[in-house]
Amino acid sequence: MRFAVISDVHANLESLEAVLARVPPSDAVLCLGDIVGYGPNPNECLALVRERATATVLGNHDVAAVDGFGIEFFNDAARTAIEWTRGAIDADHVAWLDGLSYELRTDDYLMVHGAPVEYFTYILNKRTAAQAFAATDAPLVFVGHTHLADYYALAPDGSIAHAHRQHGGTLELEPGVRYIVNAGSVGQPRDLNPDASFATYDSDARTIVWERVPYAFARTQAKIEAAHLPASLARRLELGR
Ligand code: ZN
Repeated sequence: MRFAVISDVHANLESLEAVLARVPPSDAVLCLGDIVGYGPNPNECLALVRERATATVLGNHDVAAVDGFGIEFFNDAARTAIEWTRGAIDADHVAWLDGLSYELRTDDYLMVHGAPVEYFTYILNKRTAAQAFAATDAPLVFVGHTHLADYYALAPDGSIAHAHRQHGGTLELEPGVRYIVNAGSVGQPRDLNPDASFATYDSDARTIVWERVPYAFARTQAKIEAAHLPASLARRLELGR
């Protein structure tokens, strides 16, 4: 079985379409949240995710779009964008988001936006990764939230390895080792590579493959400008930060 793992679409339709064009129809699609926020196409991205995703969990921007929860933790540009989103988003999409959960677990993997249990914590180093491993017994944890494509591996001896995958690449899953896999961001990468990021988990081959997908970010930038969203949100797309 193959699973395309996508996260942090952030209402960027051009990047979402580019990523989904790379996903074979037979692959399941796991969405780790933050479908909206920052970008100019929340309704179109929600419609595509609802059509294509096999399973979706909530991100902090999705929760804020539903009822304003957590908005006090947002920086100025994020807050401006989420207020714009709340005015733009269809009621039917809000109702759908409101029905999602913060985590989904199978025997094989756990899906959360930021971290297990502390759903909106950022896993940015081995210390926070160790806390995340301790909070769950899932052998494989899929996360987004940081917008950085990377992974942490917990060996049986308790040591943790960390590696970036900001230019794509493969990870061969080893027996007895537990993993936190960050798919990176589809719609607003922050690892100095502007190309959209996603990962594919092959449960038979026991591999994770990260891919970077170029997309027409100039079109997204023009829409951000036309919607009078903060200019910084357009600029960062070409910088990948
Ligand atoms: Zn995000």
